[in-house]
Amino acid sequence: MRTWPSPEIPVLPGQGGRIRVHDSTTGTLVEAAPGRDAGMYVCGITPYDATHIGHAATYLAFDLLLRAWRDAGKSVTYVSNVTDVDDPLLERAADTGVDWRALALEQTALFREDMTALGVVPPDVWDGAVESIPRVVAAVEQMLADGTAYRVPLRDPGSGGARRDLGDVYADLSADRLFGTVSRLDRAQMLALFAERGGDPDAPGKRDPLDPVLWRRERVGEPTWDGASLGTGRPGWHIECAVIARDALGVSFDVQGGGTDLLFPHHEMSASHVRSLTAAGPDGAAGCAHAHVHAGMVALDGHKMSKSRGNLELVSRLRSTGVDPMAVRLAILAHHYRQDWEWTADDLAAGEARLARWRDAVSGNGGPDASATLGEIRAAVADDLDAPRALRAVDAWCDAVGDRDGTWDLGAPGVVARAVDALLGIRF
Ligand code: ZN
Repeated sequence: MRTWPSPEIPVLPGQGGRIRVHDSTTGTLVEAAPGRDAGMYVCGITPYDATHIGHAATYLAFDLLLRAWRDAGKSVTYVSNVTDVDDPLLERAADTGVDWRALALEQTALFREDMTALGVVPPDVWDGAVESIPRVVAAVEQMLADGTAYRVPLRDPGSGGARRDLGDVYADLSADRLFGTVSRLDRAQMLALFAERGGDPDAPGKRDPLDPVLWRRERVGEPTWDGASLGTGRPGWHIECAVIARDALGVSFDVQGGGTDLLFPHHEMSASHVRSLTAAGPDGAAGCAHAHVHAGMVALDGHKMSKSRGNLELVSRLRSTGVDPMAVRLAILAHHYRQDWEWTADDLAAGEARLARWRDAVSGNGGPDASATLGEIRAAVADDLDAPRALRAVDAWCDAVGDRDGTWDLGAPGVVARAVDALLGIRF
């Protein structure tokens, strides 16, 4: 898909060092990309109700990581997707009487505008679910041939079109000995989350309630595509991300990212699918990502911000009321990415006040030497993307500008402005 324009990232004096992030699998801090190159896959939006503050917070977190990697001199490949056909999108379109294609296009365009306004670096590869269907079909055909997937006969009246004999296709999780190693949940937890988060544990004919759908055959009233030997239908969500990630990054890459609600089942299933599509050795191939990194959930009015509940604050709505997107960015970065938090009017007011204060400080003639501030911003981001700590370092430099004592450096405001732009994505 066409992405959005990439912001110019200033080059800073010196170079950032090793960056550590929290890996949800082990619960420990790990080096985000030990090699010279860095590869990251962050799960994209399903295009409706884009872009609420929770979405924005997730993409800003991984934007910090990408910027830090670049500052450390790494060659970064960032990959994401748009799930432009899936049950929630179709349900929303049906509820509102809007054509699902029009809804997806409109919301994807809005997402692009919001990401541009927030200064988020776009992915190098940004694939849509629909455009990826031929590759997904080939992958599911391979899994059927390998015996890691199976067909389930159709029961819904009118389903399957001319080839009703070809059923839905599900992954056979019993073929993957490493299933469960990403989230490390027990079976009861898995079953509960699978039911809660879009799974179909009670669908008749499955070998195991947890087996996820790979290819859903044509249903009355649903969009459908040519699935070659699978028959007409549409792709499952987990296989979509697995195929897009594998094709752009290979079977092994550095960071798989998303919100905490994606750890299970989505990231567990995607990793399993990648393993199933990989020629595994006797002990099976390793999981596809070196680290699974998850951003916390953002609440509004006491509940997690969600489409189903309707308690959303949208970046586009804030922009339409004249709010500076950089104030929104600062409001979000004031919370550590792993924290669950609640969006309030105070957050925005604090972001606006901080932006005004920073603007004022960097527009003056000189300031205290900024090398320690640059070092502290780098150290904060490298320590599990600790944006609140980075913001405090800039605040402290601004305080010192106000105090006007000590040695004065005419170049310091420029260094701070470039550091804040390059590492935190705040443009003045
Ligand atoms: Zn995904």
